[in-house]
Amino acid sequence: MSVGRRPRRPIAAANWKMNLLRADAAAWCRAVHENLDAAPAASDVVVFPGFPLIAEVAAALAGAPVEIGGQDLHPQDKGAHTGDVSAAQLRDAGCAWALCGHSERRHDHGESDATVAAKIAAALRQGLKPMICLGETRDERKAGRTFEVLERQLGAALEVHPESAPAFALAYEPVWAIGTGETATPEIAQEAHRFLRERLGGLIGEERAAAVPILYGGSVTPDNAASLIAEEDVDGFLVGGASLDAEKFLTIIRSSD
Ligand code: PEP
Repeated sequence: MSVGRRPRRPIAAANWKMNLLRADAAAWCRAVHENLDAAPAASDVVVFPGFPLIAEVAAALAGAPVEIGGQDLHPQDKGAHTGDVSAAQLRDAGCAWALCGHSERRHDHGESDATVAAKIAAALRQGLKPMICLGETRDERKAGRTFEVLERQLGAALEVHPESAPAFALAYEPVWAIGTGETATPEIAQEAHRFLRERLGGLIGEERAAAVPILYGGSVTPDNAASLIAEEDVDGFLVGGASLDAEKFLTIIRSSD
């Protein structure tokens, strides 16, 4: 679908998780910078590097149409929290975004809906745009509880600072599709995205909900990106595995050109 027909500008976001060293990151940035300089993309581009890489990635991508984000942040503004990173530190290092509520954080670190909401509030206090991840597990889908889970996660996430909308994005990431190679069909993604946009309308008003990008995440590849982005409420992608390879990620970016 050409960008001119889309109500929202798509976003392609790369979540590197705990991958890539400095030399790999530098090569990735060079390839993405050169490609986007050669021809502008119809999609906005965001990259979430590991914390030690953020400043170098920001420097390598200076002047490129790419924003940087932190993969996590602490709910408090500063203090005695060994090993944690604050929203202000992310901003200072060059970030514009913060990933909040990724299922790996919810699972590995026991992050509750309330913790995710507090992190969203911390990001907004520092002017970072939260990219809020939500999605059901395989068991929840099998039990027919997908919409109940999405509604709960969305309600909790927006309990604080809903007035800041639309300075945030949602990422629908069904847990069963993350890193499994089992991508949601375009129909499943569209159904969940439409549900989220409707519920968002109830929380912040339809007009503002219509402006919020809702990304899909879960085993997105160069082969399935075009069919997913063709759906009306799929406004781009949050990509893990396939984002580590600059060429694959560029193909995903350009799926909305
Ligand atoms: C993710 O971790 O946000 C993700 C979607 O991972 P993958 O693309 O590897 O499924």
